[in-house]
Amino acid sequence: MSYEEKRRRLVMTLSEEGYIRSQRVAQVIMKVPRELFVPEEYREMAYEDRPLPIGYDQTISAPSIVAYMTELLNPLPGEKVLEVGTGSGYQAIILAELVSPGGMVWSIERIPQIAEAARKRVEMLGYGDRVKVVVGDGSLGYPEEAPYDKIMVTASAPEVPPPLIEQLRTGGKMVIPVGHPYMQNLYVVRKGERGEIHMWRDIAVVFVPLKGKYGWRE
Ligand code: SAM
Repeated sequence: MSYEEKRRRLVMTLSEEGYIRSQRVAQVIMKVPRELFVPEEYREMAYEDRPLPIGYDQTISAPSIVAYMTELLNPLPGEKVLEVGTGSGYQAIILAELVSPGGMVWSIERIPQIAEAARKRVEMLGYGDRVKVVVGDGSLGYPEEAPYDKIMVTASAPEVPPPLIEQLRTGGKMVIPVGHPYMQNLYVVRKGERGEIHMWRDIAVVFVPLKGKYGWRE
């Protein structure tokens, strides 16, 4: 079966299961070739709904969680988004598709070799003008480009890092896994028009740890 056919089946399953809820998210998952974001030995598994290793003890998240978090965040054309935890670059490109035209994704990764591989993929797939990958401790956010309309964190934190709340625009939204190292919940954080913070707990998830100043110790 071709990768395209496998991708089509995955989109159908994720829609039936309720992870994909909108046409926009269905279209971008159908468009972005996940097989190019995993090491060659895992390509045949790229359309199974599971996380896969990408080296350095890190993973590309399962397609269902990518779809679910993307629906929760609801990135819109023209928006500026910060992603913490670039990993393979797959989620960053999904976000870039959804903020087009006119939007921009800044994605921060702490492991330089992972960031470099993601940057190459981003360039190779033609997203270099819409996705900027930077190396650093994303628990501090990326103040150089703040404020952001939306922030997505794809590693799990012990608490919501205060710099990320600061760097969220008023009216902005963040999705972040928070909890224990092996067991977390997604949290949705909203900054109201007067700067007030609303936060609620969503589904249970398991993510690799966010390391760094406002994450877990190195
Ligand atoms: N979004 C990624 C994708 O589409 O492939 C998957 C992210 S992976 C589950 C989590 C990533 O967060 C890892 O690459 C890890 O190195 C990174 N990470 C952990 N702590 C970080 C930090 N403080 N700042 C930036 N990246 C961090």
